[in-house]
Amino acid sequence: MIDEDIRALIELETKRQTDGLEMIPSENHTSPEVLNALGSRLTDKYSEGYPGMRYYGGCEFVDKVENLARDRAKALFGVDHANVQPYSGSPANMAVYYALVDPGDKIMGMALYFGGHMTHGLKVNFSGTYYNSVQYQTGKDGYLDYEEMAKQVEAEKPKLIFVGATAYPRIFDWQKLREIADLSNAWLIADTSHITGLIVAGAHPSPAGIADVITTTTHKTLRGPRGAIILCNGNPSNPLKKAERTKDNLPTLIDRAIIPGLQGGPHNHQTAAIAVALREAATPEFKEYGLQIVKNAKALAAHLNDKGYQLVTGGTDNHLLLIDLTNKKLKGAEAEQALSKAGITVNKNTVPFDPRPPFDPSGIRLGTPALTTRGLKEAEMDQVANWIDRAIAAKSDEAKLGAIHSEVTEFTKAFPLPGGVNG
Ligand SMILES: *Cc1c(COP(=O)(O)O)cnc(C)c1O
Repeated sequence: MIDEDIRALIELETKRQTDGLEMIPSENHTSPEVLNALGSRLTDKYSEGYPGMRYYGGCEFVDKVENLARDRAKALFGVDHANVQPYSGSPANMAVYYALVDPGDKIMGMALYFGGHMTHGLKVNFSGTYYNSVQYQTGKDGYLDYEEMAKQVEAEKPKLIFVGATAYPRIFDWQKLREIADLSNAWLIADTSHITGLIVAGAHPSPAGIADVITTTTHKTLRGPRGAIILCNGNPSNPLKKAERTKDNLPTLIDRAIIPGLQGGPHNHQTAAIAVALREAATPEFKEYGLQIVKNAKALAAHLNDKGYQLVTGGTDNHLLLIDLTNKKLKGAEAEQALSKAGITVNKNTVPFDPRPPFDPSGIRLGTPALTTRGLKEAEMDQVANWIDRAIAAKSDEAKLGAIHSEVTEFTKAFPLPGGVNG
């Protein structure tokens, strides 16, 4: 039976992506091979447990799929252990807390307002409810304030520190963060969700061997399916023995936190698609891709700076730009809407020390991962900046915004989605 309703909606969404510019920095376009694995029979299979230790029969092939995904992840990031089962980034982070701290323990993360993620200790998130969360932030200049953070760690003595962001345009100094975490003997968790593709490409330093645990989504700059991976070093212990919370036991602690701690059956179709994405990420082409994302972001930042836009920290080292629109007399939500009507998808976002609330903030966040996947380079960033500027100037003028959208759609014909999927 063909489901006309859902087919029509999938087609409309594909057309929306094809005819516009996806500039939400946490999004990307996956390859046909990733989509093929995602839409496979592997989704039918139950396989609670880990390869070789399952609670179900018939796991001989899904075992091989998961082992391939784990081995590719270990090789790509240079670590001893990879768990590829987390359903997504938030459950991966939940598993890390569950593995390493107890309810009521003090934990630390970057405040949401300053670019952190909800799961890094936001008061209304589980991480700020079950744990005693203290938050660090950036300085007035938008850069993470390492000195202030060190003072906070010395005073608060957290047991675990999450570092990673959803809206931070600069490099993280992992060595410095390790020294800060060591001030209170805290576990250092690097949540590289946004920047993993850049790390693989060598466009951002890697926390491997410095942070105790790395968590990452697989669907952002890594360009895989929705999902997540947890990476660490150490030795898997005897499965029947109790594992103390030591560095050597990290693989066992993480694996047990995922199952039986938090999850049931792994999503085998997703695991297969992650394996595909990891193989793609190990190619020289992907290295080029990661470096190009940053070149494009820097070019876009330069053009927008020239047009009088206020970029948080004045620019970018990575894949994203955070723009404070206060001087453009437009709120983040209004800009998001205007750009959307012009065929450019971004999202409203708080800026550091934002006087406005998170659901109606002063800024927008935008990035280049998806555009770079479609083949846009520095030369095209001038054109993209012009459209952004015209749409923001047009505010709610529907005719002007519609005209920009037509130009954008015409332009995108030269830059098809991966595999040439065009609606
Ligand atoms: C995206 C993201 C997450 C959460 O991922 P979901 O898959 O949306 O649950 C966690 N941490 C950071 C830093 C992220 O960017």
